[in-house]
Amino acid sequence: MFDQVTLNRLGSLRDLVRNQGLDGLLVAGPDNRRYLSGFTAREELVHESCGFLLITAKAALLFTDFRYQEWAQAEASDYEVVVYQAGLGVALAEQIAVLGLKRLGFESAYLTFAQHQRLRQAVVEAHLQVEWEPVEGLVESLREVKTPEEVAAIRRALALTEAVFEEVAAGLRPGLTESQVAWEIERRLREESAEVLAFPPIVAAGPNAARPHHRPGDYVLRQGEPIIIDMGARREGYCADLTRTVILGPPTDRFREIYTLVRQAQKRAEAGLMAGMDSVAADALAREVIREGGHGPAFGHSLGHGVGLAVHELPSLSPLEERRTTLKAGSVVTIEPGIYLSGWGGVRLENMALIREDGAEILNRLGFLEF
Ligand code: ZN
Ligand code: ZN
Repeated sequence: MFDQVTLNRLGSLRDLVRNQGLDGLLVAGPDNRRYLSGFTAREELVHESCGFLLITAKAALLFTDFRYQEWAQAEASDYEVVVYQAGLGVALAEQIAVLGLKRLGFESAYLTFAQHQRLRQAVVEAHLQVEWEPVEGLVESLREVKTPEEVAAIRRALALTEAVFEEVAAGLRPGLTESQVAWEIERRLREESAEVLAFPPIVAAGPNAARPHHRPGDYVLRQGEPIIIDMGARREGYCADLTRTVILGPPTDRFREIYTLVRQAQKRAEAGLMAGMDSVAADALAREVIREGGHGPAFGHSLGHGVGLAVHELPSLSPLEERRTTLKAGSVVTIEPGIYLSGWGGVRLENMALIREDGAEILNRLGFLEF
């Protein structure tokens, strides 16, 4: 008995697999596996898997080992769970023979080289001939467009994230360390949602705020220095991603100037994004404002990224040609321009938006500093 969500997703994937001229796809990516099967286990180590999916025109199999057997059967009830004892290779080769697969796609971004070598070897030892085709972004392209239910889950994750941000921001004071603030965020998020965080919180104060990704440490919060807080809850599997920059005490002139410019850049992008738009052009909306403000080189990362089961997924709002794409209605993206000045710190402001045919709906309720 297939539930409707799984059935729809499998149907769309089977179309893509067939269009690629493949007999089947071996799914190794944790979020892809969850998206297609409902099996929520996540691996902590890249070389240790909780399971793989094999999807063909007719079959939907989930390969796993004894440790995950019950869990997988309970959650991926639409799949035939195949428990392997002698490794994935032997079990996969058996199914390749049964299903008569000749051309098999595998997720090259997730299957390690060593795993791939072992699978090839097992298939050769079983006297089978299979063409292995590396595939990238196939399941990810389905995940790029969210259903209303997925958007609702993201809204709930963001609402929780914003509530916790407000509580933590109200308690900020000179003398606290970055790691104390980060722990407070983590503790409150976990107490409220009982699920894992979308990612470890970033708390970057003073000169550390010049590092877009900083690991919170012993640095002590001081008056008059910028503090970047980037955080997100995960609820029902779906992530939120929120950044605000604050300052303790009266804002300095420089903080006011940089913050205002970043917010202007963000507003320009928020007003301009819509379905059908080129992603490089979307990034340029905000980048132009920052360049005109004289800080072009200090905005060294992309404008934003898709968010869903993974905190970074398609589409990418990047200036890079290789990531160029067309924005689709139903995507959820971040809009997060920033300016980073070595020795001083930085300002990043991150909202989340749902791409619609006629514009971008901002999912945030949380406001900004007014000067
Ligand atoms: Zn973020
Ligand atoms: Zn982000």
